[in-house]
Amino acid sequence: MREFILLHYDEICLKGGNRGLFEQKLAANARKSLGSTVSELVPMHGRMVARLAKGADFEKARRRLSLLPGIANFSRAISVPLEMGEIRDGALSLLGGREFSTFRVSTRRANKRFPLDSHGVDCDLGEFICGKTGKKVSLEHPGITLHAEICDREAFLYTEQHDGIGGLPVGSSAPLVCSLSGGIDSPVSAFMMMKRGCPIVFAHAHNKSIGATAVKGKLSEIVSRLTEVQLSSKLYIVPFEKLQKEIIICVPAKLRMVAYRRAMMKVMNRVARLERAPGIVTGDSVGQVASQTLENLNCIYRASELPVFAPLAGMNKAETTLLARKIGTYEASIVQSPDCCSFMIAQHPETRATLAEIEAAEGSIPVQELAEKAVEESEILTFEAE
Ligand code: ATP
Ligand code: MG
Repeated sequence: MREFILLHYDEICLKGGNRGLFEQKLAANARKSLGSTVSELVPMHGRMVARLAKGADFEKARRRLSLLPGIANFSRAISVPLEMGEIRDGALSLLGGREFSTFRVSTRRANKRFPLDSHGVDCDLGEFICGKTGKKVSLEHPGITLHAEICDREAFLYTEQHDGIGGLPVGSSAPLVCSLSGGIDSPVSAFMMMKRGCPIVFAHAHNKSIGATAVKGKLSEIVSRLTEVQLSSKLYIVPFEKLQKEIIICVPAKLRMVAYRRAMMKVMNRVARLERAPGIVTGDSVGQVASQTLENLNCIYRASELPVFAPLAGMNKAETTLLARKIGTYEASIVQSPDCCSFMIAQHPETRATLAEIEAAEGSIPVQELAEKAVEESEILTFEAE
C-alpha cells in the first residue's frame, strides 16, 4: 500500500495573485524539512502530497511538520484508485483493527468530475462501513473520523489529523535580525516572526570576560532548535566588552541597563545592514523587568534606525514559557550562564529613563563606531537542518 503525508495550509489560500509564490516556498521548505523521509512532494488542489519513503520514520516527519511555518495541519494517508468500490475497500482496511464504536465520514472533493459529490461519498461510505462493521454513525461526537479526499487521479484516506502552526512559509517575508539573549524570551520572539514568513538572522552581544564557551554552546543549542523551523541559520556572536567598558565608565549605574540595550540596538542595526534585513526583533515583554517599562523601551528603540518588532510585548511569561517548551528551546534557555546585561548595574535600575538624560550620559562614547567595529570582529556560526 502506498503511503503519503497530506499537508494542508490555510492562510496561503487567502493570498490571491501571489498564492503560487507562497505555495512554491512552502513546497521547497517542506521538501527540505522532510528530507529523505519522503520520496516526492507535489502541490495538488490546494494541498501538498508527499510520498512517504519505504521504511520512513513518520514520527520524525511529524515532529518537523508540527513546527513548519505555513502548515495548518497534516495527515498520514493511504491512496486508492478513483473508483467507489476501491474507496470503500480502502476505508475498510484503514479502519480494520481500530477500536471505535461510532464514526463519521468527512469528504472533500477537489475533483469536481467525480460522479458523487462530497455528501454523496459521505453517505455511501457511511452506509458501507455500518453494514460491514455494525458500528454507528455519530456526526456530533464520533469516536473516529474517516477523511476522504477525492483528487484527480486518486483518493486519499486517513483518520488522524495533526496540528501544524499555520502562518506563512519562511522566506515569504523579508529577513529580520533577532537580538538573541540566551534567555527564554528572545528565541520565542524569533519563532513568532518565522511564523510570519521572516527568515531570522541571530545576533548576540557577548562579553568574553564574563564567560565564553558556556554561552556559545548554549546559543548554538538554541539556534539549532530554531533551525528545525527555518532550516538554515546564521548566528553573529558580537564582542561587546569594549562598548560595555565605555558605558561603565561614562554612564551612572542606574542608567546602564538602558545604555547597554541602546548599544546593542546599534550593533543589531549594523548586522541588519549587512544582512539586508529591514528590521530587528527582540524578546521584550512590557513591564517584565526594569528595562522593559514603556519609558525605557522608548529610549532603547529610539537608538534603532530600523523598526523594532517585539512580538512578545503583550504576552505573559507563562505563555512564553509554554511556547518555548513547544518549540524545544526552553531546556537550553534555562541553563545558567553569565549575562552581560546584568553586569555592573544598579540594584534598583531606573524604570523611567528619559531620552535626554540617557543621551547626555552616553554622549561622549563613540557608540556607532564601536558597534561597527564590534560587528566586524564578530564570530559567525552557520547552521543547517539535518
Ligand atoms: P529572559 O527574560 O527569559 O531572561 P530575555 O531574552 O527576554 O530572556 P531580557 O534580559 O529580558 O532577556 O532582555 C530583553 C531583550 O533584550 C531580549 O529578549 C533580547 O532581545 C535583548 N537582549 C538582552 N541581552 C542580550 C544580549 N546579550 N544580546 C542580544 N540581545 C540581548
Ligand atoms: Mg525577558
